[in-house]
Amino acid sequence: MDLKQYITIVPDWPQKGILFKDITTLMDNGEAFHYATDQIVEYAKEKQIDLVVGPEARGFIIGCPVAYALGVGFAPVRKEGKLPRETIKASYGKEYGKDALTIHKDAIKKGQRILITDDLLATGGTIEATIELVEKLGGVVAGIAFLIELSYLDGRKKLDNYDLLSLMKY
Ligand code: 5GP
Repeated sequence: MDLKQYITIVPDWPQKGILFKDITTLMDNGEAFHYATDQIVEYAKEKQIDLVVGPEARGFIIGCPVAYALGVGFAPVRKEGKLPRETIKASYGKEYGKDALTIHKDAIKKGQRILITDDLLATGGTIEATIELVEKLGGVVAGIAFLIELSYLDGRKKLDNYDLLSLMKY
């Protein structure tokens, strides 16, 4: 299936000069969403995943159905101040802006094999911070899966030591 036909490119959003890749037109198509999820599940099956971890908010949309299909749990990575219990924090720079991500301190058990999911890899800052959180808690990043990779931003370079899957490249 050609998944790109379900992505809507929105010019000048959220800022002038950005060509935003809108994944909602993939998500609201049952067949396309199912197909995309299955591709990531197949990738994850080879990696003996214990837990899926994804940054808010679109990392949840991708990660949760994958976790369900694998029969493993999902741990959310959220912006500072959103998680109710004790957290650890990692700061990062984004394609547009700066932020900090957090995860519950007890979300990962030492040695667990983790699949990280997000909708899109741009500069790689979000995923770098997510990796930092996973590794600080003793998790092993066994794979990272995206729907979309913006190759021209070279985010992959930051993730040289990790196994990466992206279903679409721009
Ligand atoms: P990075 O940290 O790799 O620069 O940016 C990736 C993050 O920003 C992802 O969490 C993603 O959801 C969001 N993002 C940046 N650009 C886009 C875009 O064009 N489309 C979508 N859907 N998300 C984007």
